[in-house]
Amino acid sequence: MQLVGDVKCYYCGFVSGELVSSDGQSLKNGTFRPAPGVNSALAAKGTLRCARCGGPVFIDDVRTERPRPAAITFERERPGRPRRARPHPTESAGAGVP
Ligand SMILES: [Zn+2]
Repeated sequence: MQLVGDVKCYYCGFVSGELVSSDGQSLKNGTFRPAPGVNSALAAKGTLRCARCGGPVFIDDVRTERPRPAAITFERERPGRPRRARPHPTESAGAGVP
């Protein structure tokens, strides 16, 4: 599980993104995950500011989340039909096969 908190502006309430930290770590040492449309360079300066008005931010709505699982691709395959390595019919055509 990991800690996740919204990075919210004191002035305008805009959520610039989220801070994510692994379990047992302070959110202040967490990784900044920018909201969609927010420049990730915002956090590169060391201090987080509001992406909209530049105001001070605080961490809101801290919750625990499961780490996002890696992308799973095998679920899209049809069950009961194992994939076979079959030569593609168009690949060998005209390729100088004797
Ligand atoms: Zn703001």
